[in-house]
Amino acid sequence: MSGAAAVRGKSKLAICGGEPVLSEPLPGHQNFGAEETAAAMRVMKSGCLSGFYGSAGPRFLGGPEVRQFEADWCERFGVAHAVAMNSATSCLMAATAACKLGPGDEMIAPPFTMSASATAAKLWGARTVFADIRADSFTLDPDSVAKLITPRTKAIMAVNLFGQPADLDELLALARPHGIKVIEDNAQAPGALYKGRAAGTVADIGVFSLNCHKIIQTGEGGVACTNDDALAERLRLIRNHGEAVVREIGYRQSPESIIGFNFRMGELEAAIGTEQLAKLDTLTAARQDLAGLYDERLRSLPGLTVPEVLPSRSHVYYVYALTLDPAHAGFSRRALVSALAAEGVECFEGYCRPLYQEALFAQDQDSDTASCPVTERLYGEQLLFHGWLYPEIVPFGAAICDAFEKIWDNRSDLASLDDEHASPSGRG
Ligand SMILES: *Cc1c(COP(=O)(O)O)cnc(C)c1O
Repeated sequence: MSGAAAVRGKSKLAICGGEPVLSEPLPGHQNFGAEETAAAMRVMKSGCLSGFYGSAGPRFLGGPEVRQFEADWCERFGVAHAVAMNSATSCLMAATAACKLGPGDEMIAPPFTMSASATAAKLWGARTVFADIRADSFTLDPDSVAKLITPRTKAIMAVNLFGQPADLDELLALARPHGIKVIEDNAQAPGALYKGRAAGTVADIGVFSLNCHKIIQTGEGGVACTNDDALAERLRLIRNHGEAVVREIGYRQSPESIIGFNFRMGELEAAIGTEQLAKLDTLTAARQDLAGLYDERLRSLPGLTVPEVLPSRSHVYYVYALTLDPAHAGFSRRALVSALAAEGVECFEGYCRPLYQEALFAQDQDSDTASCPVTERLYGEQLLFHGWLYPEIVPFGAAICDAFEKIWDNRSDLASLDDEHASPSGRG
């Protein structure tokens, strides 16, 4: 790794045959260690890998590790109920079922998110209607949502994208007068704050992911949170074959609407999750420090916009998402991402294709309304992101900034590469 001083100025871009800023691949992420191994061994020695029974009684709620994990989760996030499941996708499906979505109902969701945020309504025969996002935070635009509310709207899926909470109070204010439920897809923002409250606990139900790509993980796993006792009971029934127990427990809130699954979390994942939860604050601090460095060094590069943190909330930087104005920078996003890769800094273009363009959702859209210009502009030409935000990256943060600066210092070379690609032979 070369020092910052050596790379500024005229040194030749790696994409043009110069020396890369980073000559070795950046280190990978390993967020579990001895504590998780010890927890897993404890479960192995206990002889019980799952404590769930699909029938009424104390074991309907899972084994001791699951119940401890849920109790710790409630305490950490300041929420009344945490229901651990085998994935956030399962939690989202359980959340829409708990809110009783069904045929004829609509759920408003952003199109710029992981598909499970939107399939959660479709599964129950409801329609997903897509509202546009804000260009500064990439989260649902309340004005766009307001225009789409109809008597059929039953839920709003607010995605706390990239680690930053959406405009939750504005969305709740739109929803409340109509009895619409707001679900937070908080898969990417564990530990983020919204007006002093934990993201994922502000709306009616919040969903966290523990898959291996997320800030904390159990390999696979998810947690659904709520402060509403009735919603919590429905979530637990849907997690674990509730249809088989509604009679025995005398469940009265439309028992015929309960279809239970096996969305249960095992004891190993729960024990690992308890250890991961204890590391969340340390892992988040490293992310916020790195993001602070990137903000400081990259914000002055012409045409590049660093992620904005909206008022009264914090960002936990699941990814670091930038926008490029190609006209202002003088080169395209494709050229920038290629040049960064050549310098040893892998970045990604665009995030998810707008979901209404996917076959599953396209069939449900009104052709005249199904277009979200902000989402399309971000996806098509402006948004780029990277995940260089974990503790192992701290020693390399400055070099990552060097790579960006080096590219801007040699903008004209990059612009001419773009011209080559724009020539007829370079097309397609
Ligand atoms: C990862 C993710 C999910 C799904 O999480 P799983 O635990 O893999 O099911 C849902 N929504 C968003 C926004 C995600 O990033």
